[in-house]
Amino acid sequence: MPIPSSMRAVQLTAWESEPEIREVPVPRPGAGELLLRVDAAGLCHSDLHVMSCAPGTLPYDLPMTLGHEIAGTVVEVGDGVAASWLGRLAVVHGVWSCGTCHNCRRGQENHCLRLEGRVGFGLGRPGGLAEYVLVPAERQLVAADGMAATELAPLADAALTAHHAIRLHRDAIEGGTVLVIGAGGLGHLAVQILKQTTEAHTVAVDTRPAALEAAREHGAHTTGTTVADAVDQLESPLVDVVLDFVGADSTLSAGGAALAPGGRLIMVGGGGGSMTVAKGRDLPLGWHVNAPFWGPRQDLEAVVELARNGQIHADIEVVRFSDTLEAYQRLREGDVRGRIVVVP
Ligand code: NAD
Ligand code: ZN
Repeated sequence: MPIPSSMRAVQLTAWESEPEIREVPVPRPGAGELLLRVDAAGLCHSDLHVMSCAPGTLPYDLPMTLGHEIAGTVVEVGDGVAASWLGRLAVVHGVWSCGTCHNCRRGQENHCLRLEGRVGFGLGRPGGLAEYVLVPAERQLVAADGMAATELAPLADAALTAHHAIRLHRDAIEGGTVLVIGAGGLGHLAVQILKQTTEAHTVAVDTRPAALEAAREHGAHTTGTTVADAVDQLESPLVDVVLDFVGADSTLSAGGAALAPGGRLIMVGGGGGSMTVAKGRDLPLGWHVNAPFWGPRQDLEAVVELARNGQIHADIEVVRFSDTLEAYQRLREGDVRGRIVVVP
């Protein structure tokens, strides 16, 4: 199929506003780059945070195409890229890492020293909510031939971020109790990853009963609509690790209050909450607090493998590209099961 000169893209054109579907030029790959036809792209709650930012908060140039959970087929390669990539289905590692700095070299591309705030596709760089997307380097693709693009897209952030957070804290999680707050896009995958890769007792909290029902199906042992309600059902009401996928004032304080001594409060959600971190204050003796960011390529490879083996499976709701704006509205209202995935 010839590559057209223009395409539809979901672009944020102004801060504190809704995105628009616009006609934009199709980029062409330069040396080392690859052009992907986007087969599926997931909608993340982070996109809603980006849209609601005041001017000057983020160092992104607008208009910017949104979308950082991308799966697609390589349709063109630039000089120096193996032609064998053509026609292959891949999921995109979305961090725009340099590949050469100190952190990239030690497998922490998500902490690349050269990101300068414009961290990845749809997050400062052109994203994948479009018909095509330019990928800067081969190392940003994880080949996934034979899998369904719609199942792959949520792996690029929802599963990757959850897996990374769990891997970082595996020593505290193993054999302990983990409280997952927010069993939505990221949280429903975290519950599955915990079940498949750890021996933890998993407690899931969500304000939506439907999300808790899904969490139980995915392997949560205890559930509740509030942290207090959930931990009251435990033999001992304290947990070793809190994975907070909401990140609001209320969830941070309830999560912190539920921690056992030496426990870890892991803030993944960007809900705008804050708390005082100090000795002898709200957190138990020996506290750890951490705010992991997305994840390196190794976690994407791990979740692709888990999905390929049928061990994790994103709950997806597939919508057409033309319905993306309405789908974002539903995500804002919490009217989603698992992840919304957009197809062309
Ligand atoms: P989502 O909307 O799919 O899921 C959020 C879930 O939290 C929903 O099920 C909702 O019902 C539940 N919830 C909301 N308020 C709650 C509360 N007070 N108590 C309990 N449950 C509550 O969102 P998502 O796409 O899974 O993203 C979750 C968060 O993670 C967002 O803030 C997003 O920006 C952030 N995020 C962070 C990273 C990172 O690298 N740190 C990566 C991706 C997403
Ligand atoms: Zn780097």
